[in-house]
Amino acid sequence: MARVVVLGGGVSGHTAATFLKDWLGSQHEVVVVTPNSKWNWIPSNIWVGVGKMKKEDVTFELAPVYGKAGIDYRQAKALSINPEGSKDEEKPFVTIEYTGQGKAGETENLTYDYLINATGPKLNFGATEGLGPDNGYTVSVCTADHAIHANEELQKSIAKMKAGEKQTIVVGTGHGMCTCQGAAFEYIFNIEYELNKAGVRDKAELIWLTNESFLGDFGMGGMHVHRGGYIASSKVFAESLYAEKDIEWILGTHVTKIEPGKIHFETLDGETDTQEFDFSMLIPPFGGVGLKAYDKEGGDITDKVFAPNGFMKVDADYTPKPYEEWKASDWPKTLQNPDYKNMFAVGIAFAPPHLISKPMKNPNGTPINPTPPRTGMPSAMMGKAVAESIRDMITGKAQEPTHTACMSEMGAACVASAGSGFFDGMAVSMTVYPVVPDYEKYPGTGRDLSCTTGEIGLAGHWIKLFLHYAFIWKAKLKPLWKIIPE
Ligand SMILES: Cc1cc2nc3c(=O)[nH]c(=O)nc-3n(C[C@H](O)[C@H](O)[C@H](O)COP(=O)(O)OP(=O)(O)OC[C@H]3O[C@@H](n4cnc5c(N)ncnc54)[C@H](O)[C@@H]3O)c2cc1C
Repeated sequence: MARVVVLGGGVSGHTAATFLKDWLGSQHEVVVVTPNSKWNWIPSNIWVGVGKMKKEDVTFELAPVYGKAGIDYRQAKALSINPEGSKDEEKPFVTIEYTGQGKAGETENLTYDYLINATGPKLNFGATEGLGPDNGYTVSVCTADHAIHANEELQKSIAKMKAGEKQTIVVGTGHGMCTCQGAAFEYIFNIEYELNKAGVRDKAELIWLTNESFLGDFGMGGMHVHRGGYIASSKVFAESLYAEKDIEWILGTHVTKIEPGKIHFETLDGETDTQEFDFSMLIPPFGGVGLKAYDKEGGDITDKVFAPNGFMKVDADYTPKPYEEWKASDWPKTLQNPDYKNMFAVGIAFAPPHLISKPMKNPNGTPINPTPPRTGMPSAMMGKAVAESIRDMITGKAQEPTHTACMSEMGAACVASAGSGFFDGMAVSMTVYPVVPDYEKYPGTGRDLSCTTGEIGLAGHWIKLFLHYAFIWKAKLKPLWKIIPE
């Protein structure tokens, strides 16, 4: 009997674990280690953040789902990995610390035959003084609880506007090295929609503050789409949308500090500036969750296993290269760790070889550029591909990974909500292929324009709503869950 341990029960880890258990049956063990008792459909948090959904609409208890599937569920967080075992334990193991199940604080060494690291991001609010809801002055929609708090603060702002007070609302990125601009984009457009509904749009100044050097970069270096017989860039697309909704933008910013009501930032041209706010949601930078790694003798090999940003190294080409030499083939395919072949990293947990957007620094030497997004669809596809490889290796079909999920070979679809009304809602629906541009295969834009599309309208909102229910249905392993695509 082989044991596969999956660290993280989010989008990629849950996908990997549920498929693996389904394929391997009772002959092999699948263990999920994840600190929360609830699964969260994170993309719908933005609707919690404007009061359109409740926490119960975007979360569910994991224990019954894993119980039904026969997955061994540990409500715990991983602390460290011993990929060579230790003096006392021959097999590789991961040290976990329970956060629930009546064992909070207890630690355990969990041996494994295969390990999937799907721990997602550390929300690094600490990187910017005053950022975030816990020790700072801005709100967040990155977790369901954060989103509940964001909505409470938003409603206070709306009440003030109803009483005739003007409010400045700033949404965007809280550091020069943030990713996930899409989430902030969705949030500012949903706020704009809600302010209109509340009849107070004229009382609000809406400002988009971003580390992108141009609107519509989204951490992917932007994209181009075929529209009405010509090719339009996402810059034109995004600028038209922001202009239409009367949202101002401040580009190329690295937020250095936040005080009550005031954001301090540097810009790409090296200037420093401030922006006042009454309500602000700024995305934090992401890092790895801080797992350590040790060799058999107990020596610290964290630097060998993880990149400096804390994400796990996989089969990417991490040789430092200038931007001009970046290649689509630098990106990992099998997501297998190069040193420990029974260890994989998927979703946000793997270390990208480099940015996708063009790297930029201001004259003070401060890097200001979006870091690579790893959105839900690619994350789930990676989870499934790694599960397929591990299944084939456990069942003796192969010695090496059999499946790949490479961001420079896969496409992604993303539906970004811009207002949640059933009859007057709106969403931007985008497909992009490949996610990481391949300039050798697709000279010019780096992408296959026949598969790269962008549309905006009410139908997109219906799709977004349908996906909300479909993905929660799938994650709950309800009938036909396997045929719902990632
Ligand atoms: C507000 C918001 C809106 C978004 N909207 C969209 C969208 O519309 N479309 C889209 O495609 N993507 C969207 N995304 C991105 C999407 O949520 C991510 O791509 C996806 O969740 C990544 O999956 P993951 O498995 O890598 O990480 P996650 O889903 O974050 O899962 C990581 C899991 O690991 C657990 N974990 C953390 N530390 C440990 C540890 N030490 N040990 C064990 N487990 C640990 C976490 O608790 C979590 O359960 C959005 C993100 C945000 C924040």
